[in-house]
Amino acid sequence: MAIYDPTKRPASAFDTHTHLNDDVFWHDVAAYWARAREFRIMEMNIVGYNLVGNQRAIEIANEFEGAHAIVGWQPEDIREFDDKAMSILRQQLSEPEVVGIGEMGLDYYWEENPTHDEQIAAFKQQLALAKEFNLPVTIHARDAFDDVYEVLKDSDVASFGGVMHSFTGDAEEAKRFLDLGLYISFSGIATFKNAHEVKSAVQVVPHDRLLVETDAPYLAPTPHRGKQNEPMYVFDTIKNIAEQLGMTYNELAQLTTENAHRLWKINS
Ligand SMILES: [Zn+2]
Repeated sequence: MAIYDPTKRPASAFDTHTHLNDDVFWHDVAAYWARAREFRIMEMNIVGYNLVGNQRAIEIANEFEGAHAIVGWQPEDIREFDDKAMSILRQQLSEPEVVGIGEMGLDYYWEENPTHDEQIAAFKQQLALAKEFNLPVTIHARDAFDDVYEVLKDSDVASFGGVMHSFTGDAEEAKRFLDLGLYISFSGIATFKNAHEVKSAVQVVPHDRLLVETDAPYLAPTPHRGKQNEPMYVFDTIKNIAEQLGMTYNELAQLTTENAHRLWKINS
């Protein structure tokens, strides 16, 4: 059975985590949007990470049909997440284009990042907002799975839901977060030849909890590895993961789109 039949129209697909709000795309969002449409990538979550990123995410969601905004503060920027930023974020969370909160979490990879305690405090603040606004969370975890798990376990995450974005753990790690009720989203990392651990996670995620994303401009999937990533390449990630799961492209594109609609409460 062919994974992808070029004579058939591809099913529409959903890039659940992309940064068209990043400087590298910002001058030309419409062009990147159009390129993705050629591959029938019809929906995207534009994910914010700081003041400017959040404002731009909402602007894009306002302008493009099928674009949705997620707003929040990533670990490396949380020293700017002050009272004023908090009140702006609260206003943004009430806007109709905003479907979720994030990206948030813990990143212990970069030495120069805020301290672990500072990161954990901002993470907890945003989890409290998720509960208050009843919005699903987008979680960034880098070299910090244990602490992310502990913080989430003590939150009410099962009530508002969320996703482990660009998942880099193995099958055991995935099971821990699945047990908290979370979805797991795979990026181009899952397509890399030597990513055996991540590929083992792909196999254990129940089909109704599986999502795909580019995390563009980072992490371009095979066969574009090393190039600047962009939303249209979620096509290649879906193709690759479909092959790992013994599904067709169209089956996985439809499945992950339905899952995204359920998690972020999007009616299409
Ligand atoms: Zn991201």
